[in-house]
Amino acid sequence: MSFQNPVFIPGPTNIPEAVRKACDMPTIDHRSPLFGQILHPARDGVKQVLKSAVAKVFIFPSTGTGGWETTITNTLSPGDKVLVARNGMFSHRWIDMCQRHGLDVQIVETKWGEGISAARYGEVLAADKGHTIRAVLATHNETATGVLSDIGAIRQAMDGAGHPALLFVDGVSSIASVDFRFDDWGVDVAVTGSQKGFMLPAGLAIVGFSPKAMEATATATLPRTFFDVNDMGAGYANNAFPYTPPVGLINGLKMTCDMLLGEGLDNVFARHHRIAEGVRRAVHAWGLDLCATSPDVYSDTVSAIVTPAGFNATDIVTHAANKYGVAFGVGLGDVAGKLFRIGHLGSLTDVMALSGIATAEMCMADLGLNIELGAGVGAAQEYYRGGDGLTQKVAA
Ligand SMILES: *Cc1c(COP(=O)(O)O)cnc(C)c1O
Repeated sequence: MSFQNPVFIPGPTNIPEAVRKACDMPTIDHRSPLFGQILHPARDGVKQVLKSAVAKVFIFPSTGTGGWETTITNTLSPGDKVLVARNGMFSHRWIDMCQRHGLDVQIVETKWGEGISAARYGEVLAADKGHTIRAVLATHNETATGVLSDIGAIRQAMDGAGHPALLFVDGVSSIASVDFRFDDWGVDVAVTGSQKGFMLPAGLAIVGFSPKAMEATATATLPRTFFDVNDMGAGYANNAFPYTPPVGLINGLKMTCDMLLGEGLDNVFARHHRIAEGVRRAVHAWGLDLCATSPDVYSDTVSAIVTPAGFNATDIVTHAANKYGVAFGVGLGDVAGKLFRIGHLGSLTDVMALSGIATAEMCMADLGLNIELGAGVGAAQEYYRGGDGLTQKVAA
């Protein structure tokens, strides 16, 4: 067993020391104003990270998956129609959840490696003259393929079609790492979890609801109890939850929001872009390709790297864990065995990224791939050397 950090899985991510300490708290009365002093700043911090003046932020003891469930059960009724693209394992799993909740799911099948086509969404919405589609779902960053989709373009397509559907965005592996504009993009529900861009242990579902999404809760009839946002909101008004809150994690969230806003969101995004670009330079130097089919959809939080045909990419992940104590991500679903993933989000610096690139290189060479040791590391080093020192500001 290895507890070595950094890990290079795309969540859970590395936890900064200050955040670990913030999560480690003595017991407090979770129905006292003291809890409010933790809860409200954490919710306000999330709102700022979402770039929203209007979002109501709710925090549940759960994970991103619970955030999906919160989204659909609070806003929709059985039989409601939703439009969603499937371009990887995470969008697939959200679709599966919608189907299991008895929603009428219209799927836009999309090649794994491509982004969501706003144009195709626009066509479907324009054809829906009776406005039967209640919600449009989009996975901002498909973590299985390392593909970032353009949410602003989806909003434009919705507006272009004059369609009133709600817009739900899975931002689990994008929020707090890449630009996310809740208000500008007219997002109705944004979903994330604690263990990715927020650099916390798993355990929180974090969602933002627009006024329009809050309105939808009045008529939505899908059953919900634990994930009822109105019950949760009533609790917040009394500095409490409807049940026992995970106080330490919420204190950690308050801390990570302070760190992200202190670093500056633009600096956080620039750091993620720079680290990701170094990884991409390495991949290119290895003569390998990303699963993402074009630069406009390259993800700055995870790179899915396709290995040569006939080679089992999962062997790299197993070997890295066994021989070097380093964690990479495996291929999921349709791309299992065909690619491995380097997660590069959260608490990470250029030099930390270099250790992952070096390890991947050793593994591929050990397993007989035609990789020249140092090729990828060198390409990333050249790129990182040209950086502007933003890395020094991040508290790792
Ligand atoms: C990790 C992830 C999820 C699932 O989140 P959990 O916290 O594991 O429930 C959903 N969507 C995306 C895009 C993810 O990366």
